[in-house]
Amino acid sequence: MRILVTGGAGFIGSHLCEKLLLAGHTVVALDNFLTGSEENVAGFVKNPSFSLIRHDIVQPLKFRGGLVKTLGSEPLDFIFHLACPASPIDYQKYPLETLLASSEGTKNILDFALPTKTRVLFASTSEVYGDPLIHPQKEDYSGNVNPIGPRSCYDEGKRYAESLCVHYSRIYSLPITIIRIFNTYGPRMRQNDGRVIPNFIMQALSGMALSLNGDGSQTRSFCYVSDMVDGLISAMKGESPLFGPINLGNPEETSIHALAALIIRLTNSRSMVSFHSALTDDPRRRCPDISLAKETLGFSPNVSLEEGLQKTIEWFKKEG
Ligand code: NAD
Ligand code: UDP
Repeated sequence: MRILVTGGAGFIGSHLCEKLLLAGHTVVALDNFLTGSEENVAGFVKNPSFSLIRHDIVQPLKFRGGLVKTLGSEPLDFIFHLACPASPIDYQKYPLETLLASSEGTKNILDFALPTKTRVLFASTSEVYGDPLIHPQKEDYSGNVNPIGPRSCYDEGKRYAESLCVHYSRIYSLPITIIRIFNTYGPRMRQNDGRVIPNFIMQALSGMALSLNGDGSQTRSFCYVSDMVDGLISAMKGESPLFGPINLGNPEETSIHALAALIIRLTNSRSMVSFHSALTDDPRRRCPDISLAKETLGFSPNVSLEEGLQKTIEWFKKEG
């Protein structure tokens, strides 16, 4: 298959491109490198089945009557649409870029897919549930989001994009898959990405205190990137015009305080923890109900938090 991956030079996108290439697909990655990098694709950039195009999806993919030059004229069989900043630090630094990537950017991808009715898998997020009042989160929960808070550029952007996808599917019969990704981690996250796992690993490896926001009792459920990529690829098989939304993640829930203790143990670090003010609108509890993914995709994450952290720590020691 010939597959387009937007955000292909990002953390999850680069792992996805790599796995698709291994499976024998031809992959075109689009990225504006706002939060991704060429380094992420360095291991396979010379693969003749891979091409990387610098493009901001906020600009239409068709311009001056032609396709983006290097995208070529061969048809695409599938589009994974991942382009959007994802770390809270990133999206709060780039709020307008984030809103536009989800709104204009998603519309441009859907318009691009329309003439050939190419299926688009939209990478949504557990953040559509905001600070959830229901636990664990099931797909039919409509969420608790503050539309004017510091996270709203991301949360509301993704909610708008889901709505856009649903209506393109209903009005134009464009085949769409919506996947709600829960916290995912692993190699290729940037040292200064700002998300909790790279922060804690870098702090533990350098002997600095691990910075806990609030009292650390808030929870997350972390999925190792190889499990997430397998889940995304398994979602390519969805055939109904609108497939999803489906939660993907690992339901192994942990408090952030327990995560800090685990990372200190796995790195043999002497670091302590330091307590900082709680963040505005920081979700208190997050854990996916993945029964729909199990049933429809046969999805079952198999990398435990401890195993995934060990692999990630090794990578940060060598490359991070
Ligand atoms: P990332 O920041 O590493 O990747 C995002 C990529 O999109 C980057 O390479 C960035 O340069 C690119 N990008 C951003 N705006 C763009 C634009 N306008 N045009 C072209 N490229 C653009 O983040 P990630 O963790 O790999 O997340 C990938 C996707 O998965 C995002 O859509 C995110 O919302 C979703 N997601 C991730 C997580 C997670 O825990 N990692 C959780 C939920 C959802
Ligand atoms: N967090 C923390 N210290 C950090 C970074 C994050 O305590 O240095 C907390 C953050 O407040 C949140 C959780 O860890 O409660 C997960 O944050 P992250 O930014 O990784 O992702 P989120 O799930 O909030 O998008």
